Amino acid sequence: MTGARSEPLTAHEGLLSGEAMVAGVVGHPVRHSLSPRLHGAWIRALGLDAAYVPLDVGPHGFETVARALIGGSFRGMNVTLPFKEQALVLADAATDRARAAGAANVLVYRTDGTVLADNTDGEGLLYALRRQAPGWRADRGPVTVIGAGGAARGAVAALSAAGATDIRILNRTRARADALCALLPATAFGWDAAEAAFEGAGTVINATSGQLTADAPLSLPLPPARAAGGVVVMDMVYKPLETPYLAACRALGHHTVDGLDMLIGQAVPAFEAFFGVAPPEIPVRELLLAAMYPTKGPAP
Ligand code: NAP
Repeated sequence: MTGARSEPLTAHEGLLSGEAMVAGVVGHPVRHSLSPRLHGAWIRALGLDAAYVPLDVGPHGFETVARALIGGSFRGMNVTLPFKEQALVLADAATDRARAAGAANVLVYRTDGTVLADNTDGEGLLYALRRQAPGWRADRGPVTVIGAGGAARGAVAALSAAGATDIRILNRTRARADALCALLPATAFGWDAAEAAFEGAGTVINATSGQLTADAPLSLPLPPARAAGGVVVMDMVYKPLETPYLAACRALGHHTVDGLDMLIGQAVPAFEAFFGVAPPEIPVRELLLAAMYPTKGPAP
């Protein structure tokens, strides 16, 4: 590991040349995105002539901005809500995993003037599970994915490719679960069949966006307490780090995995695609946690 810096990081320090490599995260909003800090920390640790910028394009500006950057020096973008589906449509080519997910979280601007869509969220999901649940395997029993949006779709594609053979989609809106399962190897369950969806599950992934605050009332179905081994339960949400869902599952004796390593894991291949080099081994999780939970410094 190279030395970590503890002061707050910016995307760059104003030392860019006219040939600097530029990439960024595009969404609406992007104010709360941690990606600029993450990529910025890697850029700085490597001393690259590069910048990674947050870009809010408003609710309707994605296509105009994404197209305007083609053919220039722009290297690529992470795409966040609500543009992931639009990004896949806009691209000239797509990886198999982006097509399987039906959405792109990465657009790579290639030197030949074409744009490649990729989806690295599934890779991030597997990275988080392997990192925080050592010994975890995709085939450690049925996998129950709660939610049927873009993130759930990416998760099913990745889990299936990693060896999961019994994947269950449990969603509030049953029709949306049915639609996902018509495209990918998974079985649909509605809220009223939660017990069946959790039956024997070894892994549970919360891929809903419903529980974003620590004080939100818990309304998601929980896996039953199990005597031996417990279930590995992951929440894709990383703020708060321990969501109400993870807290409830931990209280039931399950092993919990937070969403922060998923963010890091999806960023690794994106960084490599944008800047042509692997990110350095620096403690970025700690840097992100410091940004998420800043402690007050001494009074001026
Ligand atoms: P999405 O397409 O909007 O899907 C949202 C899903 O959440 C739907 O299945 C929806 O169910 C469900 N839902 C929303 N509110 C709910 C509530 N109150 N109760 C029960 N279910 C509810 O969103 P997405 O793109 O899939 O993202 C899902 C989550 O994953 C987001 O929180 C996102 O931030 C997170 N994520 C994290 C990472 C990471 O790097 N850690 C990466 C990608 C995504 P209905 O179909 O019934 O509406």
